[in-house]
Amino acid sequence: MKHNYLFIVGGVMSGVGKGTSSAALGLTLKAKGYNVTAIKIDPYVNVDAGTMNPVEHGEVFVTVDGDETDQDVGTYERYLETNIPKINYMTTGRVYQTVIQRERNLEYKGKCVEVVPHVPEEIIRRIEQASEEAKADITLIEVGGTVGEYQNVLFLEAARMMQVKNPKSVRFVIVSYLPVPPSVGEMKSKPTQYAIRTLNSAGIRPDFVIGRSTMAMDDPRKQKIAWICGVPKEHIISAPDAKSVYDIPDMFEDQDFADNVLKCFKLKRKGNDLKRWHAFVKKMKSSKREIKIGVVGKYFSTGDFVLSDVYISVLEAIKHAAVDQGVKAKIEWLNSEEFEKNSTKMKKILSQMDGVIVPGGFGSRGIEGKIAAIEYCRKNKVPYLGLCYGLQCAVIEFARHKLGYKDANTTEIDEKTKHPVVHIQESQKENVAKGSYGGTLRLGGYPCMLKKGTTAQKAYGGEMISERHRHRYEVNNEYRDELEKAGLVISGISPDDHFVEIVEIKDHPFFVGTQFHPEFQSRPLTPHPLFVGLMKAAKQRDGGRGK
Ligand code: GLN
Repeated sequence: MKHNYLFIVGGVMSGVGKGTSSAALGLTLKAKGYNVTAIKIDPYVNVDAGTMNPVEHGEVFVTVDGDETDQDVGTYERYLETNIPKINYMTTGRVYQTVIQRERNLEYKGKCVEVVPHVPEEIIRRIEQASEEAKADITLIEVGGTVGEYQNVLFLEAARMMQVKNPKSVRFVIVSYLPVPPSVGEMKSKPTQYAIRTLNSAGIRPDFVIGRSTMAMDDPRKQKIAWICGVPKEHIISAPDAKSVYDIPDMFEDQDFADNVLKCFKLKRKGNDLKRWHAFVKKMKSSKREIKIGVVGKYFSTGDFVLSDVYISVLEAIKHAAVDQGVKAKIEWLNSEEFEKNSTKMKKILSQMDGVIVPGGFGSRGIEGKIAAIEYCRKNKVPYLGLCYGLQCAVIEFARHKLGYKDANTTEIDEKTKHPVVHIQESQKENVAKGSYGGTLRLGGYPCMLKKGTTAQKAYGGEMISERHRHRYEVNNEYRDELEKAGLVISGISPDDHFVEIVEIKDHPFFVGTQFHPEFQSRPLTPHPLFVGLMKAAKQRDGGRGK
């Protein structure tokens, strides 16, 4: 099988949508009948994204095989409708770790191990393995950061080496930014020209340029970049800010981007099936009725700008469910720390919500605000979905107010509580004692059995599911009977009967907490049943709120 590789690098500045561009291109290539996979390269030294603060780096996405990755991997999964495995994610730390381990194992057979070629060789080995495992006709490889940065030099060198080895099957896209300075009033292409020159000096010539900007790129500018940078004019893709990220695949289609990529690889189009995608986009655009979903989180310390990135999969899952239900989700970011300070204000805000989500989280900051919000939702029948920490907080709230254990808590917050209704998993004690935090949470997909007739079971339809996890603490089984007697329904458990995976309560329009993260498996074309369940109940509540 012939594997083709398309590297996507960034020019001028980061954060202009390389991930979404890669995913959208992948979707359109797939629609033309080819098997596509995507790889994300993050140049930092961390071995994975799990140890990074989401405020700085955005959401930590979890793959089905238990890797903690950059959020772009989630974007690929959503657009490509496929599970992206661990081998498709690499960082400088991960690559070096392997090289050093192999050196220790004498795998280099006494040779002097050098930064070049051994590090790029390991990068290439990973790319080829990922491509092989996915049986991909086309592998998209997104190199994080921007060309010219010291950090991604070795990755670009690996890409260059791959092209030398295989000139016909390695191509390059640069996603660059073209500013429109208000004082000048026209789009400037010079920074992009410099970025391309920098790429040239790494021995790489781009085959395509995606010109990101606030507005569309006109013909003279395309002509200029084509002429100065040696890229065919029809390979210069104008990518102005889109109203919705879901418009990007069509924006590319209108410029024959995927078709031209196929031509570069000497591949023929085998169809163009975007029917389901178009139906989704159409339905999204025609859904007007607004449903308010409050997300009670805490990562608000560096300003509003980071919000949607921190909870990107949650945000996406809400949107998918909204489209499914023919409504438009209006997401309200609610700060749980504020709730702690002012409970009257909290109640007023929550009473205006049609549904509430408490997403995953760690540590004590803002946890009391989350618990208070959950109490409000339980008592006032506001549809509620708790994700991971959102389940644990729901169990704490239930124990405090239904079992009367005022000090009930998770030992993550209060190690000495007399009522540790959530406590550390047995297998995690050693990790914490040793300070071994990286990659050691209970991670990835695990099966879960559903209890017949419960809200969760009815939402899923089946009785056995698999969902992705990322947690160190769990519901304490010693409290299971008491909690159940007081009315908490344990509707999902691990097949060995150990982990409480889903809890819910009766006589409530929708109140479900999951130990796993359903948001990681929601996709535009296959929305997640629990988010759909929340949205259905929220639609009813919207009526109830008297709009
Ligand atoms: N902090 C909790 C735990 O480690 C919940 C984690 C999460 O929400 N992802 O178990």
